[in-house]
Amino acid sequence: MSFLKEKEKFPEIKKIIAVASGKGGVGKSTVSVNLAYALAAKGYKTAIYDADIYGPSIPILFGLENSQPEVIQMGEEEKIIPALKDDIQVMSIGFFLNPEQPAIWRGPAASSYLKQFLMDTLWKDVDYLIIDLPPGTGDILLTLCQDIPLDGAIIVTTPQKLSLADVQKSVMMFKHKDINVPVLGVIENMSWFTPETHLDEKYFLFGEGGGRFLAERFETELLAQIPLFDGLCKASDK
Ligand code: ADP
Repeated sequence: MSFLKEKEKFPEIKKIIAVASGKGGVGKSTVSVNLAYALAAKGYKTAIYDADIYGPSIPILFGLENSQPEVIQMGEEEKIIPALKDDIQVMSIGFFLNPEQPAIWRGPAASSYLKQFLMDTLWKDVDYLIIDLPPGTGDILLTLCQDIPLDGAIIVTTPQKLSLADVQKSVMMFKHKDINVPVLGVIENMSWFTPETHLDEKYFLFGEGGGRFLAERFETELLAQIPLFDGLCKASDK
């Protein structure tokens, strides 16, 4: 048994849900944040952990880019107090990285830092912890999913069939017998665009059918299709 995989390591957390994608830029962080807000709106005590080492965007999406979490000493251990925004506990690897410098950690160092931050955070009474995983299917992701006691994974993809190869690899990774994390379903993002002036029209800018194809192929659910929203970029930055 790996050093983290035991659920007892997280006595304050009831469920851990990972949000994953094959490629970057498909809306994984946007979905993670909105999922956290949706759960909080339903009355669940919610937390989010941004483990996207290549582009930690959670601090910006929460308006916490100048936040420096406090580190306290608890007995022998140092613990990090997560930021709190709209009742959501927020921890991001981005709080500890210089935004002007790319993350230069290699695979093993990166995954052990990511695990350590998760363990060292002083989470308090959480129904759902959402983890925004790094994109791809590489070593970092594999080690994280092997070691963190995930209760389920949600896969984010665009409708483009061409981009599905990587996404399929990540679904297969969750289903692999050594990882064995239930895939809760697929969210297809950027499914179509409807101009404000023509509300009855749908333009399938990135192709069609990728989410449904993936859900059927892996016998899971297509949980949602999210259209392109004009202004989401600006709203996210704000
Ligand atoms: P990832 O975490 O997969 O890299 P992000 O969530 O950071 O992706 O999204 C990438 C970019 O696409 C961001 O600028 C985001 O605002 C934008 N975006 C994501 N989903 C949508 C959408 N449905 N409509 C419009 N823009 C979107």
